[in-house]
Amino acid sequence: MAEANIDHGTVHPAETVPYPADAPRSAALFDRAAQVTPGGVNSPVRAFRAVGGTPRFMVSGTGPYLTDADGREYVDLVCSWGPMILGHSHPEVLAAVQAAVGRGTSFGTPGQGEVELAEEIVARVAPVEQVRLVSSGTEATMSAIRLARGFTGRSKVVKFAGCYHGHVDALLAAAGSGVATFALPDTPGVTGAQAGDTLVLPYNDLEAVRAAFAAHPGEIACVITEASPGNMGVVPPEDGFNAGLKELCAADGALFVSDEVMTGFRTSRAGWFGVDGVVPDLMTFGKVMGGGFPAAAFGGRAEVMAHLAPAGPVYQAGTLSGNPVATAAGLAQLRLLDEAAYRKVDAASERIRSLVTEALSKEGVAHRVQSASNMFSVFFTERPVRDFADAKSQESFRFTAFFHSMLAQGVYLPPSAFESWFVSAAHDDRAVERVAAALPAAARAAAEATG
Ligand SMILES: *Cc1c(COP(=O)(O)O)cnc(C)c1O
Repeated sequence: MAEANIDHGTVHPAETVPYPADAPRSAALFDRAAQVTPGGVNSPVRAFRAVGGTPRFMVSGTGPYLTDADGREYVDLVCSWGPMILGHSHPEVLAAVQAAVGRGTSFGTPGQGEVELAEEIVARVAPVEQVRLVSSGTEATMSAIRLARGFTGRSKVVKFAGCYHGHVDALLAAAGSGVATFALPDTPGVTGAQAGDTLVLPYNDLEAVRAAFAAHPGEIACVITEASPGNMGVVPPEDGFNAGLKELCAADGALFVSDEVMTGFRTSRAGWFGVDGVVPDLMTFGKVMGGGFPAAAFGGRAEVMAHLAPAGPVYQAGTLSGNPVATAAGLAQLRLLDEAAYRKVDAASERIRSLVTEALSKEGVAHRVQSASNMFSVFFTERPVRDFADAKSQESFRFTAFFHSMLAQGVYLPPSAFESWFVSAAHDDRAVERVAAALPAAARAAAEATG
């Protein structure tokens, strides 16, 4: 993918004193955590297993920066895996949260905040006529699949290898190949029965989808896809792929479910829908719409959503769904996300992408920076990455070296070569320059790494 011209003016010689490789307070917390929590973390990738070393325990965040338990500051290029698109501790979001907390934290009744958040989502994303709020992206996709099955009266689900839709049993089947092959579950605890109705196909391969519909006419409830995948690294849909999915679904009477948990309200005001304009039957949201709190949603055509309880027969519920504090945070963040805010996020993303390309090119490291709007990631390979098999063929040992060099210089990257990097509207010149200063040494480390 062609990257923008490089602005040599923003690169400064590294003058940062690298942090020592050990992080004693984080290490002590990690030891304690491992006693009481499996693997010491509450979500696996946080454990740094892919890159090794001590996960940093963060204690605070402001704007584009995080501070860890050892008092070290990092430029944050994870942004809580997407939600913190305005940066950490945005004063207006915090004020909305504090005001909401002051009124009480959960009522188990309907409330005004959830109406306003639903109205904001419906106003931004044209295909969404009605929306149901939930507490996590996993719940959103799980519920959307249930609704698709309830609406169509069919059981099979098509997903794509490398796409992640949360830890929904039926969607943890990512292995398997061949159109007619039913997927085997990827994890113990998911039974063959739970995964057996899931067909896993290679991403960006419309022919495979066409063949799946031909092999199972009238049996597929829905095709679910990440609107633009970010969970195998950033692998955007090729021209016409989403539109082709939509067409094939419509022709067979299946629903097209676009998972915008990551892209929603990030890649544009209206998420990836705002970029490619393909109209799904159902959509899922999370991350940005929660403003850093557990709030997520699924929505779509009113005719489909009307099948959901209590309007219809498909059951779905949640004690904390539409929680007043979470909805206040999400609403405050969405209201601040105007075109000017997206321009800032896009600009920060573009600058960092150019700097990464420049640094790696200078060291002769084979790489590709792939982007989808302001989401991007770096693959250590020369070849275009268009599906999961391509992503897995990269030299991820180079990422490990690159990651640790950046970390030691105060830049916090996702601790895996298969994750999107995220920036925020708070990533200003100072933050970008700190990234620029760290890149030459990290690129050298990547060049010198051996597999
Ligand atoms: C993060 C993510 C999910 C799961 O959301 P959780 O809130 O972690 O359950 C689902 N789909 C996509 C595309 C995601 O990026």
